[in-house]
Amino acid sequence: MWTPTILGTAASLAAVVWVVAAIVDRLGRRRLAPTPPEILLLAASTILLLLALQTLWEPGAVGRLDSEAVREAMGLRSALAAAALLGFLAPTLWRITARLQAHRHRLLELERAEEGYRRLFEHSSEGCYLATGDGRLLRVNQTFARLLGYEAVESCVGTSQWAYVPYLVPGRREQLVAVLQRDGTVAGFESQIRRRDGSVAWISESVHAVRAADGSIHGYEGKLVDITATRQADEQRRRMFDLSQDVLCIASADGKFVQANAALTRALGYSESELKRLSFTELLHPEDRLGAAVELRRLALGVPIVNFLARCRSKDSVYRSLSWTSVPVGGVCYMIARDLTSQERIERQLRLAATVFETATEAVIVTDAHGRILKVNPAFTAITGYREDEVLGQHQRIFSSDRQDEGFYEAMGHVLQTTGHWQGEIWNRRKNGELYAEWLSMASVTDGAGRIVHFVGVFSDITRRKRDEERIRYQANFDVLTGLVNRWQFQGRLEQAVERARRNHGRISLLIVDIDHFKFINDSLGHGSGDALLKEVGQRLTTCVRENDTVARIGGDEFAIIISESRDHDQVTAFAKRVLAALGERFQVKDSEVVISACVGIAMFPAHAETVDELVRNAATAMSHAKEQGRHTLQLYTDDMATRAIERFQLEASLRRALEQDEFELHFQPQVDLDTWRIVGAEALIRWRQKDRLVAPGEFIAEAEASGLIVPIGDWVLRAVCRQIVAWQAAGIAPPRIGINLSFKQFRKPDFLAGVKRTLAEAAIDANGLQFELTESLVMHDADAVINLLEAIRDLGIELAIDDFGTGYSSLNRLKRLPVSILKIDRSFVSEVTTSQGDAEIASAIIAMAHSLNLRVVAEGVETEAQLGFMRAHGCDVIQGYHVSKPLAADAFTEFLLGWGRKHGPRLVSVKGTAA
Ligand code: C2E
Ligand code: CA
Ligand code: CA
Repeated sequence: MWTPTILGTAASLAAVVWVVAAIVDRLGRRRLAPTPPEILLLAASTILLLLALQTLWEPGAVGRLDSEAVREAMGLRSALAAAALLGFLAPTLWRITARLQAHRHRLLELERAEEGYRRLFEHSSEGCYLATGDGRLLRVNQTFARLLGYEAVESCVGTSQWAYVPYLVPGRREQLVAVLQRDGTVAGFESQIRRRDGSVAWISESVHAVRAADGSIHGYEGKLVDITATRQADEQRRRMFDLSQDVLCIASADGKFVQANAALTRALGYSESELKRLSFTELLHPEDRLGAAVELRRLALGVPIVNFLARCRSKDSVYRSLSWTSVPVGGVCYMIARDLTSQERIERQLRLAATVFETATEAVIVTDAHGRILKVNPAFTAITGYREDEVLGQHQRIFSSDRQDEGFYEAMGHVLQTTGHWQGEIWNRRKNGELYAEWLSMASVTDGAGRIVHFVGVFSDITRRKRDEERIRYQANFDVLTGLVNRWQFQGRLEQAVERARRNHGRISLLIVDIDHFKFINDSLGHGSGDALLKEVGQRLTTCVRENDTVARIGGDEFAIIISESRDHDQVTAFAKRVLAALGERFQVKDSEVVISACVGIAMFPAHAETVDELVRNAATAMSHAKEQGRHTLQLYTDDMATRAIERFQLEASLRRALEQDEFELHFQPQVDLDTWRIVGAEALIRWRQKDRLVAPGEFIAEAEASGLIVPIGDWVLRAVCRQIVAWQAAGIAPPRIGINLSFKQFRKPDFLAGVKRTLAEAAIDANGLQFELTESLVMHDADAVINLLEAIRDLGIELAIDDFGTGYSSLNRLKRLPVSILKIDRSFVSEVTTSQGDAEIASAIIAMAHSLNLRVVAEGVETEAQLGFMRAHGCDVIQGYHVSKPLAADAFTEFLLGWGRKHGPRLVSVKGTAA
C-alpha cells in the first residue's frame, strides 16, 4: 500500500526539479525551452500523477487495504505514479545530459582556438612579443627574432628590461615607454633599429598593456612590422618628388599645400613650410583664380584629370606662368606643373633675336658645318650687294678676295674648331667686284654632343674706317698742308737721330726756321695764300736737304731741319745761309709775288745739348735770338743764351711792373733840316727809369716785342707824346713834328687806327704834329690791307716814315705804292759813309732814288762833321744824330729847342703872340 504513495511523491519531486531546471535554464539564457513532445510528455505525466493521487486519497480506501479491490486499486495507482515519475524524470535527465554535452563541446573548441592562436603567433608575418610588466620578454615569435637578426627565438627571450628592441636613436625607447605608461597603448611607433649584424632597419611598433583586475599593468603585448622597404620606397618617392624638374605638390581638399617639391619652392621662392601655411588659390594671379577654381571643381564632379594655365605669385611678388595638371588621389589632389616662365622668356628672346637679325646694321650670316650659307640678314645684302636668294646654299667663300691666302683660311678654321670663335679683319668682294674690308666675328654652334652644326658670322663694313685710320695714321705723322713730317713724327725722328749719333759718336744739327711776321702775311694775303706760301716754303726747304735729313713743320710758320750727317759749325752755318737765301727768293703765291724772310736757330748734338729736349729747346732759343737781331738772320746756339732766356723771363715780369708803376719816360732827339738848319722834327725814344739808372730801349724793346707787352707800351708812348705836345703848347712852345716808333705788333692790331684817333681826340691835338716810324718789314707786303691802313693814317694827317732803311730787303720800287713821305737811312750805313766805299754808294743811291720817288731822306746817327758833309753833299734832307744832339729828356729838350732858336733863328711861336 506504500508503493503508490512513494512513487507519486517521487513523481511530484521530479516535476518540481524539471520546473526548477527550466527556470534555471531560462535564467542562464540557455535555449533549453521545453519542446512540444516534452510538453505533451509532461502534461501526460501530470495527468497520470493526478490520477494516482485520486485513487490514493479516495475516502475509505485505507480501511479496505486487504481486499482484492484494494490490491487492484493499489496496483493501478502504483503503475500511474510510476508512469508519472518516468514522465517527469525523462526530460530532466535529457536536459542534464545535454548540458554535459555542451560543456564538453565548449572545452574542445577552446582547445582548438588556443592552438590556432599559437600558430598565428608563431607564424605571424609581424614580429610578436609578450613582455612582463617591467618589460622583460616572455615570448616572441620567429619573425620577431629574424627582424632583430637572431636565428632562434630562444636567444631573444629573457632580455633585460625594455632592451628587447635595439633602437638606433638614443632616447627613442624612453619615448615609447613613457607613452605606454601614460596611455597603455601605442600604435605605429616608427623607429630605426640596429639589427644584430649591424644593419639598420625601420620598424613600426604597436604595443598595448595587459592589465590585471585591479587595473595594474602586468604585461605587454606588442608587434613589430619591418617597414624598411616602405620607408625606402617613400624616401625614393620623396626624392623623385623633390628632384623632379616639374613642379609637384599635393593639396588637400580645401586647397592647402600638404607637400611641395623643391621645384615648386625654387620656382616660387617659398620654403615648403611657408607653402604649407598657404593655400593654392591665394597664390594665383587674380585673373587666373576663377579659371583654376572651375577646373578643380570639375575634379570633384568626377573628371579624372584637369589641365589649366595659371600664374603663381612668387615670394618676391613676381608672377610665374605655370601649366598645371591635377589628379585627385584619395582625399587629396596631386598637382604637377611646368614652369613656362623660362620657356616664355626663351620665346621672347627668340623673337628679339629675330628682330635683331632683321634690323641689325651688322651683316649676319649663318652657314652649316661645311660653310654653306643657310641664312643672311638684310644688312648682309646692304653690305655685299647679294640678295638672300642669290647666296643660299652657296659656300661662304664666294665673297673672298685674293687678299687672304689659303693659309689664312686654314688658320682661321683651326682657331674656330678649337676655340669656337674667331675674329679679325678680312677683305672680301662685293657683288659689283669692289673690294671692301670687314670686321668679322665668327662663332661655331654645336649640338648637344659637341659636334659643330652651324657657323654664325657677324661682320661690319670697315672700309671707311680703314681709310680713316690710314688718314689718321698719316695725319699723326705728316703735316697735311705741306706733306712734311709733323711735330710728333719730328720728335720721333730726332730721338732716333740723337740715339744714333750717341752710339756712333756722331753729330747732328737741328735748325729751327721761323718765317718773319708770317701772321701778318697771312692776315694781309688771306689764309688761302698763307697756306700756299707755307707749302712752297716746305718744298724749298726740302730741296735744300739731303735724303737722310728730315724737314718737318713743327708749328704754324715754324719748320725744323734735322741734319743727321756730321757737320761742323761752319758747315752748318753755311747750310743755314743757303736755307735763308733759298727762302729769300721771291715766291709766286696765286697771283701775287711775295718776298719773305726768316730766322734760323741752330743747335747741335752733342756740342749744345745732351738730350733731345735740350736740343730742341736750345735751337728754339737760338731762333729767338736770331729774331731779336732782326729779320733774316741765323744764330748758332751759345751757352749764354740759356742764361739770357732766364733773364728775359725776369725782364718780362719787371716790364709789366714798370708799366703798372709808370716807370717809363720819353726822350726826344731833334732832327735838323740841312737847308734851313732848323729843327723840323724830333724822335720820341723811350727810356726806362730804374732807381739808379736809365735803361735804353735796346735792353728791353726786343723782349717787349716778344712778350707782346710792346702793345700797351706803344699805347703809353703815344699818349705820353700827346701829353707832352699839349704841355709844350700850353707853355707857348710850338714843338716840331714828333716821330713815334711803331712796333709791328702794335700796327697789326685791328683796333690800332681807332685807338690812335681816340687818343688824338682825347688830347685834342692835331695829327699833323705826329710822324709814325715803321720798319721795312712792316710795310714790305704790298697787300691792300696794309696799304689801306697806311693811307688811312696818312689821311688823318700823320706823316709816315720808313725807319732803318737799307737793312731789309724791300725794294724802293715797292715803296712807290706806299703813302710814305720820309725815308730814314739806317745808322749802320751812315756811320761808315766816310770810311766804306760800299756804304757810301748805298747811301747816295738811297738818297737819289728816294728823291726820285718824292721822298724826303733823314740820315740817322750822324755823329761827325764829315758825315754831315757827306749828307749835305749828296742832297740828304734832314739829319738826326749826336752831332746835333743826343736824345734829351723833355725839359732838356725844351731847353735845347729854346737855345737852338736863339742860335739859329726862331722856330718858336710865342703863345702870347710875341716872337722870341
Ligand atoms: P731807332 O728807331 O733807330 O732810334 C734811333 C736810335 O739811334 C736811338 O737809340 C738813338 O738814341 C740812337 N742814335 C741817334 N743818333 C745817334 C748817334 O749819332 N750815334 C749813335 N750811336 N746812336 C744814335 P735808342 O734810343 O737806344 O733806341 C733804340 C731803338 O729802340 C730805336 O731805334 C727804336 O727802334 C727802339 N725804340 C725806341 N723807342 C721806342 C718806342 O717808343 N717804341 C718802339 N717801338 N721802339 C722804340
Ligand atoms: Ca726810329
Ligand atoms: Ca732807326
